Amino acid sequence: MVVEHARKHQVDTLTHFAAKLSLSCKGMDIELDNRLAKFRSALAKGVDFELFAPQIGEILTLLKNQEAQQASHQRELHNSVLDAGKLLQKTKGLPDDARRTLRHLLDHELNNVQSTRDFIPLLNRLVTIYHQALQVKLTIPECQQSAMQPSLAKELLNLANDLVFEDETADQVKTIKNNISETDSVDDLLTSAIDIIRIIASNISKERQSAQSFLVSLNQTLEELHHSIVSTSKHSEAMGAEFTALNKRIEDKINNLTAQTQSATSISSLKALVDYELQSLSEDLIEKERLEQQDRDMLLNSFQAINHRIGSLESKLSKYKKRLHEQRFKCLLDGLTKLPNRAAFDERFHHEFHLFAVQESDVTLVVIDVDHFKSINDTYGHSAGDKTLQVIAKTLQMSIRKSDFIARYGGEEFVLLMPGMPLEHANKPLEKLRKAVKGIPFKFKDKQVEITVSVGATQFKKGDTPLGAFDRADDALYKAKNTGRDRLYINK
Ligand code: GH3
Ligand code: MG
Ligand code: MG
Repeated sequence: MVVEHARKHQVDTLTHFAAKLSLSCKGMDIELDNRLAKFRSALAKGVDFELFAPQIGEILTLLKNQEAQQASHQRELHNSVLDAGKLLQKTKGLPDDARRTLRHLLDHELNNVQSTRDFIPLLNRLVTIYHQALQVKLTIPECQQSAMQPSLAKELLNLANDLVFEDETADQVKTIKNNISETDSVDDLLTSAIDIIRIIASNISKERQSAQSFLVSLNQTLEELHHSIVSTSKHSEAMGAEFTALNKRIEDKINNLTAQTQSATSISSLKALVDYELQSLSEDLIEKERLEQQDRDMLLNSFQAINHRIGSLESKLSKYKKRLHEQRFKCLLDGLTKLPNRAAFDERFHHEFHLFAVQESDVTLVVIDVDHFKSINDTYGHSAGDKTLQVIAKTLQMSIRKSDFIARYGGEEFVLLMPGMPLEHANKPLEKLRKAVKGIPFKFKDKQVEITVSVGATQFKKGDTPLGAFDRADDALYKAKNTGRDRLYINK
C-alpha cells in the first residue's frame, strides 16, 4: 500500500512538473514543445511508469540540442566581432593606444563573452561606427575632423539610447552619453565606442550565465529522474523475483510441516518438529518484512530526492521566466523617456500596416522633431537637454488618444500612429499637441524658455510600402522645418 501510494505521488509530482516545464520552455524549441506535450498527456493517461524512461531520454536530447544551438550563436557573434576587430587591426596608422585597447578587447574580454542573439546586430553596428571613426581619423587632417564629428556622435548617441539598463550600468551609459555630446574630438568618440562595447559585453555574459545555469540544472534534474525511474523499475523486478522465491520457500515449509505432522509418531517428536519449522518460518517472515521495508525505503528516498530537486528547479524556472519577460519588456522601452522605442515602433508600425492592407481604415502617421534642440544642449548642458526630452515626451503622451501610439524614434524625434484617424480630421488634434509643447513653462538658469516642435503628417495610402509612407511623413516634417519651424505640415 505504501509503495502504491508513493508511486501515485511520484506520478502526480511528475505530471505537475511536466506541466510547468512545458509552460516555461514554450517557444524555445518547437520539437521540445511537442515532446513535453506528449509527455504530459502520457502522464495524464496514466501510461505504464516504465514507459516514461525513453520519453524523458528524448526530452533530454532536445535540451542538449538547445545548448548546442546557444553555443553556435555564441560562435557567430564571436566570429563577427573578431573579423571586424582584425579588419581594424590591419588599418595602417592605428594609434598605439587604440591598438592596445582593441587587442585587449579581442584577446581577453570578447573571449569571455557569451552571446544572446539580440545583441549581435548591436555589436555589429558598434564596430561599424568604430571603423568609420577610425577612417575619419586616418584620412582627414585633424583640423577638418570636427566637421565629421556631429554625424558620428549622433549615431553613437542613437546606439547608446538603445541600451536600456538599470542601476549602475544605467549611470555608466548616461556618463558615456554625456561624454559623446560634450566632445569635439574623434578620439573621445573612439573611447566611448569602446566603453559601450564593454558594457554590452559584460551584460551579455550575465544574461548568458543565467540561461546557462538554468539549462544545466534542468538537465541534471531530468537526468536524475531518468536514472531513478530506470533503477526503480530494475529494483522492482529484482525484488519481485526475491519475493516469489521467498513465498515459494514459505509455502514449501508449510506443506512440509503438514506432511511431517501426519507422519509423526509421538507427541514429543511432533512438538520438536513443529518448534523447529515454526522457528524457521518466522525467520522467513522477518526476512520478508525486512525486504518489503527496504523496498519502501528505497522508493521513498528516491522520491524525496527528486521532489527536492524539482522544487528548487521550479523556483529557478519562475525567476528565469520573469527575467526573460522583463528583458523583452525593457528592450521595447526607451530608457530616458520611458516611451516605446524605435524597435517597439517598428513592430507596431508593421502591424498597423498589415491591418490597413486588410481593412483600409484610416491611419494617420506623424513625425515630430524638436526645434533647435542642439542649442538647448549647447546653452544649458546635456542634462538639461535630457530633462527637456523627458518633459516633452510626457506632454506628448498626455496629448494623444488612448488608441494612438507614440514612440521615441531617436534623438529628439518622436513618431505617432493614429489608427482610425482620417488625415482631414488630424489637423485639430495635432495643432493641439504642437501648442501643448509650446506651452510648457521651461525655466533654465532662471530664464523662461519656449521650446517648439515641428510636425509632419500623412496617412497610409493604398499601394503604399511602409517605407514610402514614412518618407512622406518625413517630407512633411522637412517642409514644416523649412517654412519656419513651430508648425504642422500635412502631406496628402
Ligand atoms: P532642427 O530644428 O533642425 O531639428 O535643429 P536641431 O538642433 O533640433 O537638430 P539636430 O539634428 O542638428 O540636433 C539634434 C540634437 O539633439 C543633437 C544632439 O546632441 C541632441 N540629442 C540627441 N539625443 C539626445 C539625448 O538623448 N539627450 C540630449 N540631451 N540631447 C540629445
Ligand atoms: Mg531637431
Ligand atoms: Mg532631429
